[in-house]
Amino acid sequence: MIHLKKEDPEIFRAILEETKRQNEGIELIASENFASRAVMEAAGSSMTNKYAEGYPHARYYGGCVNVDVAEDIAIARAKELFGAEHANVQPHSGSQANMAVYFSMLEMGDTVLAMDLACGGHLTHGHFKNFSGKYFNMVFYGVNKETEQLDFDEIRAKAREHKPKMVIAGASAYPRTIDFAKFRDICDEVGAVLMVDMAHIAGLVAAGKHPSPVPVSEFVTSTTHKTLRGPRSGMILCREEFAKKINSEVFPGIQGGPLMHVVAAKAVAFREALQDDFRDYQEQVVKNASVLAESLASKGFRIVSGGTDNHLMLVDLSGKGVTGKVAEKCLDEAGLTVNKNLIPFDKESPFVTSGIRIGTPAATTRGMKEAEMEKIAEFMDRAVAARDREKELAFIKQEVREFLKAFPLYTDWIGDMEAS
Ligand code: PLP
Repeated sequence: MIHLKKEDPEIFRAILEETKRQNEGIELIASENFASRAVMEAAGSSMTNKYAEGYPHARYYGGCVNVDVAEDIAIARAKELFGAEHANVQPHSGSQANMAVYFSMLEMGDTVLAMDLACGGHLTHGHFKNFSGKYFNMVFYGVNKETEQLDFDEIRAKAREHKPKMVIAGASAYPRTIDFAKFRDICDEVGAVLMVDMAHIAGLVAAGKHPSPVPVSEFVTSTTHKTLRGPRSGMILCREEFAKKINSEVFPGIQGGPLMHVVAAKAVAFREALQDDFRDYQEQVVKNASVLAESLASKGFRIVSGGTDNHLMLVDLSGKGVTGKVAEKCLDEAGLTVNKNLIPFDKESPFVTSGIRIGTPAATTRGMKEAEMEKIAEFMDRAVAARDREKELAFIKQEVREFLKAFPLYTDWIGDMEAS
């Protein structure tokens, strides 16, 4: 980054400090991961300069010969990875992928059945402050109060009652396997379209560690930067019959020029995800989450729904007399990054919460395995207990730094940046 350092030392420093922050803390935010240097090189390339409105070989700009190559490859790899008939790799983000699907199938005011944000859904699944909640008549399903898991009798009853035009499956904070075939069955009964937002579990799906929604859904949307470990972006998979409709809804419907540097970076990430070691990685992500949940439970933390089947877990802190807000802060001071999160039927507000959401994708990318998960649970337990003792938290942070020396992240890069 010699040019950046010379041209803009303030931004150079912010990037250097951020890279160091990522290296020096344990990243447990379930939606985050560490993309490879290859992905980042593509994302930081000359393709950022190129306008390419339209689709490969049918653009509204000249000079698209090379970006066409990148987008063709990204599309082919996305289709291969997920066994999809059609892929649109242009959505700038997961939110825009969802918007394109809604706008392609729904009219304003149409009824959509989705998972309640308070039970694990996403803002774009109908929150009143989001475009989805403003434009459509959203009705919600949650989780069963006892099991804290999806209750298909309730979902079916809601679908029968409200006759939605679309049902959305998929979540931001749901630790259990989702039975997409049951959603399909419900949609068939009430004549609804099924859209699955697999943003969180896309990497698991790609590696065969979670059942795929692709064969049973009209539309599958995703982000590409969570378990899938690509650049920050989105994509849509659908059946061939919807290909034209979805393409024209992404462009010119809701976006202008695609971010071709990010499309190229997505192609790189999809190639990585097609390798055998990606399957091993996802298997370890799931194993790590399960061991971390068990270790935390053995230290008296209540794990929502009693465990996890995927890459994340929700921890109910109320038994420890701590809120999510307090836990997020003290863990941060001890060098562990998590996010506060509502738990199902939470009595606290979204700004306070009774829980935290924890995920293993990022720590697993650093090479951590089961033994390290036990150590992380110990760090977390000590940090929560020491929440009012600044010095002790600083001491744990130092231990965390030492522990992380065995799992270097971007260290060559940091070295180069500091030396330049
Ligand atoms: N869908 C789900 C299930 C998510 O968890 C997220 C992000 O957290 C999104 C969509 C939105 O993705 P983005 O932040 O890229 O707009």
